[in-house]
Amino acid sequence: MKTNEIIETAEEYLIHTYNRNQISLERGNGVYLYDADGKEYLDFGAGIAVFAIGYNNSEFNNALKTQIDRLIHTSNYFYNEPAALAAKLITKATGMDRVFFTNSGTEAVEGAIKLAKKYAFLKTGRTGHEIVAMKNSFHGRSMGALSVTGNKHYQEAFGPLIPGIRFAEYNNLQSLKDLVNEKTCAIILETIQGEGGIHPAKIEFIKEIRNICDDKGILLILDEIQCGMGRTGKMFAYQHYGIEPDIVTVAKALGCGVPIGGFLAKEEIAKALVPGDHGTTYGGNPFACAAVVKVFELFEKQNILSNVNKVSKYLELKLDELVKENEFMIERRGIGLMQGIEISVNSKEIISNSLKQGLILFSAGTNVIRFLPPLIITEKDVDKMVVKLRQAFLS
Ligand SMILES: *Cc1c(COP(=O)(O)O)cnc(C)c1O
Repeated sequence: MKTNEIIETAEEYLIHTYNRNQISLERGNGVYLYDADGKEYLDFGAGIAVFAIGYNNSEFNNALKTQIDRLIHTSNYFYNEPAALAAKLITKATGMDRVFFTNSGTEAVEGAIKLAKKYAFLKTGRTGHEIVAMKNSFHGRSMGALSVTGNKHYQEAFGPLIPGIRFAEYNNLQSLKDLVNEKTCAIILETIQGEGGIHPAKIEFIKEIRNICDDKGILLILDEIQCGMGRTGKMFAYQHYGIEPDIVTVAKALGCGVPIGGFLAKEEIAKALVPGDHGTTYGGNPFACAAVVKVFELFEKQNILSNVNKVSKYLELKLDELVKENEFMIERRGIGLMQGIEISVNSKEIISNSLKQGLILFSAGTNVIRFLPPLIITEKDVDKMVVKLRQAFLS
């Protein structure tokens, strides 16, 4: 199909929940994507922090093909080797004890909320517990995940949402303390707010939340769906903060494009969920879990974390230069290869001009340009990105 046919067909039959770029992507290689007309794009979006290991990674592709020929799906009423291995790998990487595999980040958040509620129910013998979430947060679009997403615009039409959710100001301890009460069973936040505009939590904020949770027997849920899996130079962003959450949610780069997420918890909490409490048909199927196993193997083999630590220093340097040069740029924020530049103009035009220059970037809100490249990028790729971005400002 020609590009315009693809776009017309999609626009005719898909529910219009996205204003898509007028580009149809066809294949990828390393840090590059190619559209249906053969135009090349340097990818600084990684499909929204998903494709960490680079496109068309032959070892990854071959592992998936092997698993397809062996077994794709069975149901969770049987064991399968990839799920057992993937569960071991992700629990070791997070420092948690057990995982429940889901099909998406949203479902991981749903599961985390249910686990926190069930744990509180067993502890107190009653229901009606509350959760403190953050303003400007993003946790997903299902009714539960949306209920803890601090964005009025996303929530407005869909009420009533789940009750008992209170929203604190991110990085404002007093605002959080004001909302915690004897009914609070969990505090949920992103270690680095992603969709909300790349806001890393302050060290004292996270540490003090951990203390509050310990004092009051409240569970700390960290959403690492975007900032986890090596993006910040450690496997999980909270590992920069010297604390551990009680429950962690993961997804995005976990399967590097194969849809899988999970929620993880320490043993004492995880055991609150028993047969019948939660389930999924696809979640943790052998195909998706084979992807996870290979992703972890490739992270080791390709020294992904050391690459992130090395290249992100260079990226920060270059982005800081851009901020200095350009009046309309306010500040750079971020950790590792999860970076954003806040700007005083609408990001829409910059994003679309960048596409014309062959550079894929996402915005976060209307005033932040987001940089989420595949974790295999090199300093040369950063240089190329900067050249294209400068051209985008001129056009
Ligand atoms: C993307 C994202 C989600 C939702 O994940 P989906 O896979 O889109 O359902 C939840 N939380 C955070 C922090 C995210 O970035």
